[in-house]
Amino acid sequence: MRRKLAAGNWKMNGDAASLDMLDALAEGHPGGLVDLLICPPFTLLGAAATRADASLIAIGGQDCHAAPSGAHTGDISAAMLKDAGARAVILGHSERRSDHGETNDMVRAKAHAAIGAGLTAIICVGESLAEREAGATLEVIGAQLAASLPDGATGGNTVVAYEPCWAIGTGLTPSTGQIGEVHDFIRMQLEQRLGEETGGAVRLLYGGSVKGANAAEIFAVRNVDGALVGGASLKAEDFSAIVKAL
Ligand code: PGA
Repeated sequence: MRRKLAAGNWKMNGDAASLDMLDALAEGHPGGLVDLLICPPFTLLGAAATRADASLIAIGGQDCHAAPSGAHTGDISAAMLKDAGARAVILGHSERRSDHGETNDMVRAKAHAAIGAGLTAIICVGESLAEREAGATLEVIGAQLAASLPDGATGGNTVVAYEPCWAIGTGLTPSTGQIGEVHDFIRMQLEQRLGEETGGAVRLLYGGSVKGANAAEIFAVRNVDGALVGGASLKAEDFSAIVKAL
């Protein structure tokens, strides 16, 4: 039985006052097989990890460098995230891929660094609207997965997030049939590559315009083990509505 995971990606949002919502989220934690993860910007990471009750809410980063340390101005290593109290890191988000030219190879190298530092790597994959309209969705997802999944991936150190680029921050979501098709495909790829047991233990998140109103129907789709949430993770009541649906 895979545990459920609700992960919030604050992106480039939030200040010290935003951390108040961690208390509200902890209070509303449903218990059981549900994990909560909040990924604030780097500036808040240490404070968030100190503030959050680690038994109820894990804190994660939104990116890391592939190198362990060195002359990389403005970058943060996986070990630094770990040292600041992070337990996971989002890698290969489509905004990193488009804003910073991150390739599958770079994502994979970062995932190795993350896992080596003891973090869970959340690997994001997703097609553009043009790719979906061209009928290339599964081909694109398969190629991204094959090239960005780390060696030695297990259910303990890796999570895969399916985030269609056209659904991120747009209010548009794929149909539950479309989500199910991609999640079943990713599961099959993972089982083929990692073996049935290990591939079956990796959690698959859906991301892209998840909110309280659509969460329940998305979570009812087979092989959807939770969500990676952007906009609706910025307010306690919005994120709590999604957690409740899990
Ligand atoms: P959104 O973002 O929930 O605001 O669509 C999702 C994401 O980018 O992870």
